[in-house]
Amino acid sequence: MPVGSTATLISTHQLAPEELMKAAVVRDFRQPLVIEHRPVPTPGHGEIVVRIEASGLCHTDIHAAHGDWPIKPTLPFVPGHEGVGIVTRVGGGVTRVKEGDRVALPWLGYACGTCEFCVSGWETLCAQQVNTGYGMDGAYSEYAKAFAAYVGIVPAGLDPFDAAPLACAGVTTYKAVKASGARSSDLVAVFGVGGLGHLAVQYAKIAGATVVAVDLTEDKLAMAKQLGADYTVNAAREDPVQAIQKLGGADAAIALAVSPRAFEQAFASLRRKGTLVFVALPADNSVRIPIFETVLNGITIVGSIVGTRKDLDEVYELHARGRTHVIRETRPLETVNQSIQDVLDGTVTGRIVFDLRDTAVAEPLERQLTAAGA
Ligand code: NAD
Ligand code: ZN
Ligand code: ZN
Repeated sequence: MPVGSTATLISTHQLAPEELMKAAVVRDFRQPLVIEHRPVPTPGHGEIVVRIEASGLCHTDIHAAHGDWPIKPTLPFVPGHEGVGIVTRVGGGVTRVKEGDRVALPWLGYACGTCEFCVSGWETLCAQQVNTGYGMDGAYSEYAKAFAAYVGIVPAGLDPFDAAPLACAGVTTYKAVKASGARSSDLVAVFGVGGLGHLAVQYAKIAGATVVAVDLTEDKLAMAKQLGADYTVNAAREDPVQAIQKLGGADAAIALAVSPRAFEQAFASLRRKGTLVFVALPADNSVRIPIFETVLNGITIVGSIVGTRKDLDEVYELHARGRTHVIRETRPLETVNQSIQDVLDGTVTGRIVFDLRDTAVAEPLERQLTAAGA
């Protein structure tokens, strides 16, 4: 995506200022997002409107803006599925939340509620689902509309700038660690310790596992170590397969790096009976996995997509109890194009969270890592 051009502001003159909101809009795939003034949405039946405070930049938003996946969003659209803010309006029939509540707008924006998946705790597999910031406008915006039944409830006292990344990066890796079956005697390899991975390391530690973190830069690996990783491997400098096999092989490997090669390395780093969890969704949509070794070594490969509302409740509960630390950098929404480039360049430690309040204050990374008890 060309990022040299700055975001431009397009005004809507017919509406009063209080009826307008700022939003970052994808108008064309692989083109810079445009900051526009759009009408503040109004809630329909079962819907709410949320004044967004904090909005995380997930790598999925970049895939969305690039049109990377087989199913593409309809242009134009507002990305963002790590939005946290305060309910300002509720539509008819809404009883789950009220004005003034703090909620999170996750990837699963809507599901049917009645199919076999919805009624069995697998609403994330509902074929009728609509995804926030993909099939419906998302949270790169001062206000966003959501279905009341599918928002996360942010517990009182939780920092909205922590709650935002937890709404996708948190719940996804919490679920992926569950899917890996990680137990206290296990070695868990986390491939990619970016926005998702820095939380995956912590959930694997909470499960009691020994953790090896794999990434390409020393900064990210140092962060992983501070967050509890027992071993780190810089895959730009050494072969992670050899390094992990030297440790006895991984009982579980979680693939969070946006690179098919990293999936293949994660597979090869497993020990017999190991489990590989597919989470990242690179544009290059295929990997080469050997059949023979999969069969003879009794390997399990499982795909894991975000998490349910119940999983998100658990993620927030763990955070409220001080068990997890969110490493993030707050930036104004106007930095959206540069921020995307920084994620692609691998120079972001943890998560970028857009500050959509009126005052943008960034907390230095150093202080966050100290707070993480490192
Ligand atoms: P990110 O860019 O913050 O993190 C990716 C990390 O992988 C970076 O730290 C990067 O340096 C590292 N990396 C890249 N190539 C590597 C390699 N060859 N070996 C080791 N590390 C490497 O991205 P993110 O927001 O954490 O998202 C990661 C992926 O997960 C994206 O594809 C995103 O779309 C996907 N995702 C999936 C789900 C799901 O439910 N399955 C949910 C959210 C995000
Ligand atoms: Zn996401
Ligand atoms: Zn359903």
